[in-house]
Amino acid sequence: MTTLKGQCECGAVALEVKNPRQEVTFCHCGQCRRTSGHFWAATNAQLTDLTFTRDSGLKWFASSDFAKRGFCKDCGSSLFYRMNGEEGIGIAISALNQPTGFKPSKHIFVADKGDYYDIADGVPQLDKF
Ligand SMILES: [Zn+2]
Ligand SMILES: [Zn+2]
Repeated sequence: MTTLKGQCECGAVALEVKNPRQEVTFCHCGQCRRTSGHFWAATNAQLTDLTFTRDSGLKWFASSDFAKRGFCKDCGSSLFYRMNGEEGIGIAISALNQPTGFKPSKHIFVADKGDYYDIADGVPQLDKF
């Protein structure tokens, strides 16, 4: 079983995750670009496999009627994406300690990507998801 540890920049959110999907999805939608600073790179895990060893900084933002984004209210790190009522949770790959050994999986919402970069890494691109 794979267990990885991670944290936000300041450590006010720290976590352990079991059996995360060992692939990274890159989301280019406007929300991800605004909250992350560029495009968002995330893995996914079952909510029940995610344990917080510290969550004093964790805050949730309802980014739409159907999903929330979790971030650290102390340092601002963008950390989680969760569809309301779903068993899975998206976890920012940036929050997990290296080495992850993960591989890129796909680019999503590429129709909404920023106009200042090209995606040329050969990983599949989807207009939505
Ligand atoms: Zn923090
Ligand atoms: Zn997105």
